[in-house]
Amino acid sequence: MTDSRCVIVGASHAGGQLAVSLRQQGWQGPILVIGEEPYLPYNRPPLSKTFLSGQKHVDDLMIRPHTQYEKVGIEFLLGQSVTSIDREQKKVILAEGDEISYEKLALATGARVRTLDLPGSDLEGMLYLRDISDVEKIRQYIGPGKKAVIVGGGYIGLETAAMLRQLNLEVSILESAERILNRVTAPELSAFYARVHKEEGVCIESSVNITEFAGDTHVSEVRCQDGNTYPADLVIVGIGVIPNIELAEAAGLKTDNGICVDSNCLTNDLDIVAAGDCTSHFNAFYNRHLRLECVQNAMDQAKVAATTLCGKPNQYNALPWFWSDQYDLKLQIAGLSHEYDELVIRGDPESGRKMAAFYYREGKMIAVDAVNSPQEFMIGKQIIARGLTVDKGKLSDPAVAMKSLINISQSGI
Ligand code: NAP
Repeated sequence: MTDSRCVIVGASHAGGQLAVSLRQQGWQGPILVIGEEPYLPYNRPPLSKTFLSGQKHVDDLMIRPHTQYEKVGIEFLLGQSVTSIDREQKKVILAEGDEISYEKLALATGARVRTLDLPGSDLEGMLYLRDISDVEKIRQYIGPGKKAVIVGGGYIGLETAAMLRQLNLEVSILESAERILNRVTAPELSAFYARVHKEEGVCIESSVNITEFAGDTHVSEVRCQDGNTYPADLVIVGIGVIPNIELAEAAGLKTDNGICVDSNCLTNDLDIVAAGDCTSHFNAFYNRHLRLECVQNAMDQAKVAATTLCGKPNQYNALPWFWSDQYDLKLQIAGLSHEYDELVIRGDPESGRKMAAFYYREGKMIAVDAVNSPQEFMIGKQIIARGLTVDKGKLSDPAVAMKSLINISQSGI
């Protein structure tokens, strides 16, 4: 063991993985992970699903038991926040004034919820969903027959709506854009999800401009500009996240809607790496800087950052992928669909619970959204990653097996 300490700020998916990967890559010195929440790294995806429903408990969420970290000498300082970084002295300063020196520093500070600042936003029953304590709070307000209004029709809003319906609440989603999932999918996918949610009894209103939350001490109604009102026992706001970059910014690190890192997850300070939702990274596949908000990116970047710190840099060039579970629908997404110019649909968005959308730009497949269609997801992912060409007519025909498509193109027929 050497005395060279690596300090990791942030104890979520990226921070926890970075610590473990550092050890696996041969980091000899102490590893200290500092986290604001009082928990070891835990899985966030179940928060809006099985943890919200009460099927899973806090202990079930932990990514690894504490014994696994102890065995490899990874220490945690939990319930503490780092307030500044002194890059010259190579130390971080905690809220209480304590200073901790580092040889190498990793920032995995994540993102925080965007909040609403409207009249009544601070009434009781106005809730957000990002961490364990948020969901514990939500759970105090839910029960059969209660009226939940969800602000925002993104993944948080839709996954939460699905679970609350399963718990027999009355659910309305109010979305400011003209359709749900506006930023992340094609209109066909949005229509598919809007239909299924309606079939499940969710009221979805798009192009809504909320003006006020009314109530004495507790929210009782959501008021909109068009005069519509929605009674509410609770309101859950899921309108996106903001990357936590202030610490890096104050320390003079380069930021641009995220802490700027290169493909080795290195910041503009050779002793500091960053990983996860807080970063804007260079993505070789899309040949531009991106900030991704997903578990897979957090874990993959953490592994790359660890190799960089151990002096054996390894390029981050993963194709992004995501998933979302709502009711019996398993959505799997590979790639990013932004700026697509052609769409190939497989299956019928207007009926049933299964479909896939393949996104193209300049003739090249760039993304796939597959609902209850694992073959479409897996083969689509390969087509994208390997730059394969397939017959679009056959791709759109559910009677043609997906597997046969890449065999055909690979053999050049
Ligand atoms: P999100 O995906 O950014 O969606 C937020 C939605 O709220 C957008 O459609 C947005 O519309 C809308 N909105 C914004 N301001 C609004 C307002 N004042 N009134 C009504 N609607 C408003 O964010 P999220 O759903 O909160 O999720 C947070 C992060 O967690 C995201 O990165 C998400 O991808 C991630 N997450 C992922 C998963 C998954 O992969 N399964 C699950 C949960 C969360 P505009 O687009 O017009 O702004």
